[in-house]
Amino acid sequence: MGIRILVWNEFVHEKQEPEIAAVYPEGIHRVLAAAFGEHPALAGATVRTATLADPDCGLTDAVLRETDVLVWWGHVAHHLVPDETARLVADHVLRGLGLVVLHSGHFSKPFKLLMGTSCTLKWRDGDRERLWTASPGHPILRGVPEHFELLVEEMYGEPFDIPTPDETLLIGWFAGGEVFRSACLFRRGLGQVFYFQPGHEANPTFYDANVRRILGNAVSFVAPARRSDSLDCLNVEALEKR
Ligand code: ZN
Repeated sequence: MGIRILVWNEFVHEKQEPEIAAVYPEGIHRVLAAAFGEHPALAGATVRTATLADPDCGLTDAVLRETDVLVWWGHVAHHLVPDETARLVADHVLRGLGLVVLHSGHFSKPFKLLMGTSCTLKWRDGDRERLWTASPGHPILRGVPEHFELLVEEMYGEPFDIPTPDETLLIGWFAGGEVFRSACLFRRGLGQVFYFQPGHEANPTFYDANVRRILGNAVSFVAPARRSDSLDCLNVEALEKR
C-alpha cells in the first residue's frame, strides 16, 4: 500500500487576501498535494487535504489512524485549532505518525507540544535566501544541489528555540545576514518530525522544484515503519520461568 498523506492547511490567507490568492488561488494545500502527486518517491501514494473549516479541523482520530504522514501549514489561526486536536495529533506522532511542519507552523500547537520549547525565532518579510545542504547524503536531500536560492522568502533567523535536532539538513542564509536551521529532523516516540522553514504565503515557494523535491523526499522518509495503538505502560509477564 502506498503512503497515505494528509495535507492540512488553515486556509485563511488565501480566502481573505487577494495578493495571497493570486499566488495560491486554490490554497497552499492544493499546490502541495499536486507536488506530492507527481513526486517519484511517492508513486502509489494517496493524497488528501483538510482545512480548519472542516468539522473537527478534518483531524479526527479515525482520520489520523488512516494517515501515514501529516503535512501542516498554519499561521494566523494557530489559536483556532482546539487544544484537544493538537494533543491528538501529537499523540499520533508519538505512536508513529510522520509529521512535516512547514514555515510558520513552527508556532502551531502540535509542533510546540512535540518540541516542548517556545519555538520562537527572528523574522523579517521579504529577503533572498540561499539554502545550503548540511547533510548531503541524507535521503531527504536526494537530488538536491549543494546549494540553491529562493529569490524572495521570509527571513527566519537564529536563535530558533527548539531542542537540538537529531539532524540538521539545511542551513538557510539570508541576504540581510542572518542564518537559520532551515530543515531539521526530530524523533519523537515512534514518529519522526521534519521541520522546513521556507513557505511564506506571499511567495511562490511551493512551486520551486527543489522545495517540491525536498518535501516529497521528506514525506517518504518520515512515513512510519511501525505504529502503536496506545501510549500506555504495559504490565507484562516474564519471558523466563523462574
Ligand atoms: Zn511567513
